[in-house]
Amino acid sequence: MKKEQSLAEKQQANLLNKLLKKKAVVDGRIAAATEERGVAILLTGNGKGKSSSAFGTMARALGHGQQAAVVQFIKGRKSTGEQLFFSQHPSVSFHVMGHGFTWETRDPELEQKAADKAWELAKAYLSDPSIDFVLLDEITYMYKYGYLQVEDLINALSQRPLHQNVMLTGRTAPRALLDYVDTHSKIADEKHAFKAGVKAQAGIEW
Ligand code: ATP
Ligand code: MG
Repeated sequence: MKKEQSLAEKQQANLLNKLLKKKAVVDGRIAAATEERGVAILLTGNGKGKSSSAFGTMARALGHGQQAAVVQFIKGRKSTGEQLFFSQHPSVSFHVMGHGFTWETRDPELEQKAADKAWELAKAYLSDPSIDFVLLDEITYMYKYGYLQVEDLINALSQRPLHQNVMLTGRTAPRALLDYVDTHSKIADEKHAFKAGVKAQAGIEW
């Protein structure tokens, strides 16, 4: 009994030691991270959770009284919950790319016009120091399909106000953008209810 106890004590001491070492590493990193500036965060991948994470982060910024702007580069058939909710918020400017660019219809000329218009809006927010948080949802498709030039985006991001945070989403992104951003998370499609035949639903899918 006594021996067992001392084994448990030894294990606990080992664990504590490991945790303390880990804490020292984390503390060191926290001490080293002294730069104060906004960041560009990119969320890609085939798994669910990119746009919802970006809107969740925006809610976090709004909680701190920050000003936010959203440009959604793909228009769905229905209004999304995020649009219905955040467009009512006094500190959010919310834009969904105009008619012409949807998942359902294809009209290259209208799509180009809609893309250009949405980009003009995005560019304006990226140069506006009163905007703390910019969300460019599904923007990476514009580069994939050649509607916009990624160099223009990188330029605008590079010249934006120092404190401004930006989040960008889309399943894939061009190399230049991957290289530019400060943070990039790729969400893997491990499992999705849709594949098991569960119907898309309000509040979860849109
Ligand atoms: P969400 O807005 O739910 O965070 P997302 O932004 O990661 O999703 P998108 O590629 O923008 O994903 O696709 C949006 C829609 O497609 C949502 O309705 C989402 O539930 C659905 N979806 C996302 N990933 C998958 C997947 N792996 N299989 C099936 N449907 C998916
Ligand atoms: Mg999305």
